Amino acid sequence: MDIRFTPEQDAWREEVRDFLDAELPPEKAFDVEFDEDEALWEFSHAFTKKVGAKGWLGLNWPTEYGGLGRPPIDRMIMSEEFEAREAPLSGSIGWGLTAGSLLAGGTEEQKQHWLPKLGRMDLHVAEGLSEPAAGSDLASLTTTAKRDGEHWVISGEKTYTTWGTHADWLFTAARSDLTASRHRGITMFLVPLDLPGVSMSPMLNLGGGRQNHTFLDDVRVPHEYMIGEEGGGWHMIMNAFYGGGIHAGHAYYERAFAAVLEHCKQTRRGDGLLIDDPIVRQQLGQLALIAEQLKMLTYESVSNFNNQKPPSFGGAIGVVVSKEARPRFFELCNRIVGPLCQLQEGRFAPMRGQVEAWYRHSYANHAGGTSQVKRMVLATRGLGLPR
Ligand SMILES: Cc1cc2nc3c(=O)[nH]c(=O)nc-3n(C[C@H](O)[C@H](O)[C@H](O)COP(=O)(O)OP(=O)(O)OC[C@H]3O[C@@H](n4cnc5c(N)ncnc54)[C@H](O)[C@@H]3O)c2cc1C
Repeated sequence: MDIRFTPEQDAWREEVRDFLDAELPPEKAFDVEFDEDEALWEFSHAFTKKVGAKGWLGLNWPTEYGGLGRPPIDRMIMSEEFEAREAPLSGSIGWGLTAGSLLAGGTEEQKQHWLPKLGRMDLHVAEGLSEPAAGSDLASLTTTAKRDGEHWVISGEKTYTTWGTHADWLFTAARSDLTASRHRGITMFLVPLDLPGVSMSPMLNLGGGRQNHTFLDDVRVPHEYMIGEEGGGWHMIMNAFYGGGIHAGHAYYERAFAAVLEHCKQTRRGDGLLIDDPIVRQQLGQLALIAEQLKMLTYESVSNFNNQKPPSFGGAIGVVVSKEARPRFFELCNRIVGPLCQLQEGRFAPMRGQVEAWYRHSYANHAGGTSQVKRMVLATRGLGLPR
């Protein structure tokens, strides 16, 4: 296996780094999933629009839809650099999930209309898929959409809506045919969040972020906001999840590892530096192994993509390993830094409480399906085991 990058790829990485040097002061880096600070949010929105203006949100999309038509490996390199700096890219439900769904099942006219807007981040979209009784088993959703002339009337309750209060649109799924089989009667819509009948209530999480309950009460949505074919929602959602751009999740672990390692080099405990403690050294070794393992899995999936090979193990192995490694990785970070890591301020607070926050965030492993559900994909699609 040769995992060297080409000179062109190295040059692209430098271009991304130059952009981040110019546009992202280190104090503005933050985790958009878990921070509700409004000033940072405004920065994040403006920063993401700058990324969009360069065409980088749609880096891999075809040029006719406002993309740059670049190969998946360029997206992975960009993602490595963005993760390494904790770049606060917001709106991934728009330029990621919604765009991915459109590319998977949108009509030509819809792709021409929506994708350039999503790529520039002109629309800020939230995800309205989950319902109180439809999470992993999304096909049991009960929100309904009834056609009424040139409108659809949508009613139901969505839950966990992340960034709901920052978004202008909801990318949502509703049951448009009550007689069809449960996977066939689902249609996708982009619902403007300022329409009469839309309301939200907060749902605060332990990680420090906010989700929302979203209520859709006879919301009249113009037919032009139906996305894809009527009844084609399930196909779109499934293919967008599986066909999304390659995210360099390993760089998140590498960044955390580098910060903990630096802390160990600087911090004394008892008679010596933490880095000289044999148990800490072992634990650091375990962290490095996890990060490296995840990097190899990402590189393997990029390589499969490039060589037009199907993803290994049904595309589920990297997700399962990464989601299950996360709490283990951050628990180890906590053990290394010690119980004071729970302090966020003051001279006894190591790393400003970041390590404890990472641990709390590490259990948010739901996005795109929990690891248990991904294990089932791995078993059936990946290993060919019976359902
Ligand atoms: C922080 C956060 C943000 C979110 N943001 C959004 C959002 O913006 N928009 C949105 O639409 N949704 C969002 N979600 C919802 C997310 O997609 C769901 O949490 C996820 O799909 C799981 O559904 P559930 O919570 O209903 O759990 P359930 O489906 O009830 O599952 C509960 C547990 O049972 C396990 N389980 C379920 N079925 C099986 C099975 N067949 N075999 C083995 N184990 C199983 C699961 O792995 C899980 O551990 C968010 C969730 C969280 C936690």
